[in-house]
Amino acid sequence: MNAENIDIVLVNTTHSGNIGGVARAMKNMGLTRLTLVAPLKYPAPEAVWRAASAGEILENARVVETLDEAIAECQFVVGTSARARRIPWPIQDARQCAQRIAQHSATERVAILFGREDRGLLNEELQRCNLHCHIPTHEAYSSLNLAMAVQIVAYELRMLQMGGQEGLPEDADWDTPFSKAEDMSRFYEHLETTLVDIGFLDPAAPKQLMPRLNRLFNRVRLDEMELNILRGILTETQNAASRSKN
Ligand code: SAH
Repeated sequence: MNAENIDIVLVNTTHSGNIGGVARAMKNMGLTRLTLVAPLKYPAPEAVWRAASAGEILENARVVETLDEAIAECQFVVGTSARARRIPWPIQDARQCAQRIAQHSATERVAILFGREDRGLLNEELQRCNLHCHIPTHEAYSSLNLAMAVQIVAYELRMLQMGGQEGLPEDADWDTPFSKAEDMSRFYEHLETTLVDIGFLDPAAPKQLMPRLNRLFNRVRLDEMELNILRGILTETQNAASRSKN
């Protein structure tokens, strides 16, 4: 595991105190990289109070406007969620997820996303992920406080790091690097316009086609060469479609 490759990403946090609580949880467990996506109120004194002796994590935190910016360079993205969503995604508990995160972080940039206090992560944000993480709670109340959810995931990572037995992912010997989130996002846009061009996707009634295709490719994970091949196929498909219209 390489903690330097793991980004804790907080999306649209409402209560600044929670940001401080997250910083503390991270420092306690040896994580350092915090990214804040459009926090409601930040910097804020409540964050500093709750961070206690973890002030440097706040000082070094990256503040960005969009999730796209936050995860652009990441090759493995995990979304945490308190409840199941409409389209089932590959999902694991915090302990299993920590194992995957620790393994990938040895060689790749990894992001772990945490959502808003009131609504969690939006479906379109969860669809950007390779894996979903659920902390198994009592069925009477599934939603943890944001900083406590970060604490649990960070603790599982800490336990693995101390054991030193996390190993490497199955695809550690791959010949080509895995694609970054920003390239995947361009690919999905290209795929969507092509599917519209050839009449397969009706923009007036898109149904769940794009989320399902997102899930397919995020489940497999495309390397950079595979992604380029698919981009080439899409471009030629668009060319063929426009030739047949003329
Ligand atoms: N009411 C929201 C929960 C928000 S809690 C909802 O129903 O989705 C704020 C954040 O803490 C969540 O977005 C998630 O990142 C994390 N979190 C809270 N409880 C969790 C759980 N049981 N498993 C995984 N993450 C959880």
